[in-house]
Amino acid sequence: MTLLSIDNLAIEFAGPSGPVRVVDGISLSLGEGETLGIVGESGSGKSVTSLSVMRLLPEDQAAIVQGDIRLRGQSLVRLSEAEMRKVRGNRIAMIFQEPMTALNPVFKIGRQLTEAIRQHSRKSKREARKEAIELLGHVGIPLPEQIVNVYPHQLSGGMRQRVMIAMAMACDPELLIADEPTTALDVTIQAQILDLMRKLQRERGTAMLLITHDLGVVAETCDRVSVMYAGQIVEQGDVKTVFREPKHPYTAGLLKSVPQFTGEGKELHSIAGQVPHPSEFPAGCRFASRCPSRMDVCEKVDPAAYDFGDGHRCKCHLYGGRETNAGLA
Ligand code: SF4
Ligand code: MG
Repeated sequence: MTLLSIDNLAIEFAGPSGPVRVVDGISLSLGEGETLGIVGESGSGKSVTSLSVMRLLPEDQAAIVQGDIRLRGQSLVRLSEAEMRKVRGNRIAMIFQEPMTALNPVFKIGRQLTEAIRQHSRKSKREARKEAIELLGHVGIPLPEQIVNVYPHQLSGGMRQRVMIAMAMACDPELLIADEPTTALDVTIQAQILDLMRKLQRERGTAMLLITHDLGVVAETCDRVSVMYAGQIVEQGDVKTVFREPKHPYTAGLLKSVPQFTGEGKELHSIAGQVPHPSEFPAGCRFASRCPSRMDVCEKVDPAAYDFGDGHRCKCHLYGGRETNAGLA
């Protein structure tokens, strides 16, 4: 069953000369227990997308102007803030790149975790504290009976991220959104945190939306991937298929810049240029200024999405015929 579906979603931000469309007609879906990676450079709209699912966009600056976000068929876009508060942290939990922004620096770990647990259950303080200690142990924190008595700043970045994961798991969410969960950590700790997230996911069957710029993280963690560029999804499909046979020149370019996909000794490429600013998105293909396969038509006509079967779709003029608008706008 589909847990989360995003249909033709568009998000606009207020700009100095009128609204700018930062997310432009994206569609994706996530099944129960599945992990979907949203990958792209900064400025692609991936974090804005994840915040919109949580309805955490700054209301005075940003608005969902088109489309819908549904959790088990129920529109989140239409919920009141009070109703949304019940969804947030309860059915959907989120972890961020920098756990210090989500943890309260003046309260001990145990108190924060205990409060999170009690918000979503009728447990007594004593029971919640016992569960907090169990959870800390479960996320691989040594000596959890002692860690409940420390403040966030007394922990390393990796330990803080484990605490955040424990907080997210405390409410047993159906969906976990992780926005660059390992980006601030060094490589060994990154691998440990990814292992932990995979383990919890297996044990609990939690679905995950993983936002990252790192294709290595997607390869290790995700079942499917959506590649975002300049506010649109340009390619999506099964991770193995997309990584083995990328169809979009942008996906291919991203893969060439990751050592583990190019093979030892091969030169790494990074894609020259930058994602255009949302106020300057071109009329044709938004990747045209950086694309090595650019053709005349690319700058004039916005490419439609082409379907390669099994949910593998790509928005690019290189593939004629078999046009579809389902899934990619
Ligand atoms: Fe490149 Fe053209 Fe495809 Fe855009 S539509 S990615 S410019 S080939
Ligand atoms: Mg981001």
